[in-house]
Amino acid sequence: MGSNYNTLENINFLKKLPEDVVIPLRQHKGAPCKPLVSVGDTVLAGQQIGEAVGPGSAPVHASVSGTVAAISELPHPSGNKVPSIVITVDEQQQSIEFNPLDNLDQSEIKQIIKDAGVVEIYGTPTCEVIENIDTIILNATYESSKIAGCVGINFYSSQVYEGLKFLMKASGAKRAIIAVNKNNKEAFRILSNLNLQSNIRVVPLSIAYTYTTNMENLLVYDILGARNQMGGTPQDVKVAVCGVNPTYEVYDAVVNGRPSMLMPVSVHGSVGNPQSILVPVGMRFKDLFEECGGYIGEPGKIIVNGLYTGIAQYTDEVPVVKQTAGIFIQSPSDVRSVQPVPCINCARCVDVCPVDMLPARVAVLADQGKFDECRSMHVMNCVECGLCTVACPSKIPLLQLIKYAKVAIERAYADVAEKESSNLTLGCASCEGGI
Ligand code: SF4
Ligand code: SF4
Repeated sequence: MGSNYNTLENINFLKKLPEDVVIPLRQHKGAPCKPLVSVGDTVLAGQQIGEAVGPGSAPVHASVSGTVAAISELPHPSGNKVPSIVITVDEQQQSIEFNPLDNLDQSEIKQIIKDAGVVEIYGTPTCEVIENIDTIILNATYESSKIAGCVGINFYSSQVYEGLKFLMKASGAKRAIIAVNKNNKEAFRILSNLNLQSNIRVVPLSIAYTYTTNMENLLVYDILGARNQMGGTPQDVKVAVCGVNPTYEVYDAVVNGRPSMLMPVSVHGSVGNPQSILVPVGMRFKDLFEECGGYIGEPGKIIVNGLYTGIAQYTDEVPVVKQTAGIFIQSPSDVRSVQPVPCINCARCVDVCPVDMLPARVAVLADQGKFDECRSMHVMNCVECGLCTVACPSKIPLLQLIKYAKVAIERAYADVAEKESSNLTLGCASCEGGI
């Protein structure tokens, strides 16, 4: 892949580029980008090929050099079809001139982050996340495991630390907190060797779970005690929650001048050589799995970004996107072994729920289609952490049923956030200390 890619120490690099890549024009929560290239154009690695359109949208770049073969709607890991640019990879692999700059001021760093198209795992462009805040929380609770399924901070801590300092400068944040899972002793050891500056501290989280997408407000509450309303974002309490991968990308954009085009992805499960590997955005899963030694037997299920909370894929033609952190491949026997049996009323799901729900009860109501009752039991408060599903000895797909109810309620009511907010565990003034 060439020297441009060799900036990380503990991550593998591709041995062979695929024949083509698929770059979705939507890798963020906003509107799809406007394509800047046409079929037949040649592109260089790092060249901007999609222009952001409005808030929540971030530019996309070619991750390889080659020729634009098609622009069409293609499968995306979100489960939808998304307008995408297909690039046939050439042999030369030339890139644009990456221009690292020195002595940058606040607005220049901000502009670099924006132009680089860095996006958080929950889909918001990082340049928007750091607007009007005074604190940054670096969510380093993800670890490289089959459950969290991503490359953790242990892999590239010094670059992430530098990226965090750039984020602080760009945003004007007075302090930053690195939130680490209390069991991640290795992360503590590595971070303590970095001699962090005085306004950056490491906070071990006493609850040993990964704060996944949807849990940003909970993370802010658990660390700072700052409450937020449903539908709100950490920014409402002047906090930015940033991920490890995007913070690395900020470092890469500022120091190496490279836009968001390479993703460290952790591949676990039923492949010949599971590993953490740096891959170009747009690489199809099937090509990535080939690089990882190929499937062991027939694949059963492919799950992206967390075994319990991630999204199951209906095809391995989907590409790696900016939010792809980990992929887990289950064998058919793994899939078959997860057969639910009746609830034994052990209440383990209740014990682990971080927002004090009654997952077993809500799941039964969801299964019966009693969505109004689910709503009155505050199903919309669920942060989709998946802990109830993990804890359940009866293997009941609690999160799946709860998500089913949430989607049904969202479709049926236009005023969910407004109606639910008065009963929120998080953000309700009448239930101080409620979680
Ligand atoms: S997924 Fe389960 S444990 Fe997590 S918040 Fe929702 S109900 Fe609670
Ligand atoms: S953990 Fe499973 S078996 Fe136990 S009460 Fe909850 S749903 Fe029932």
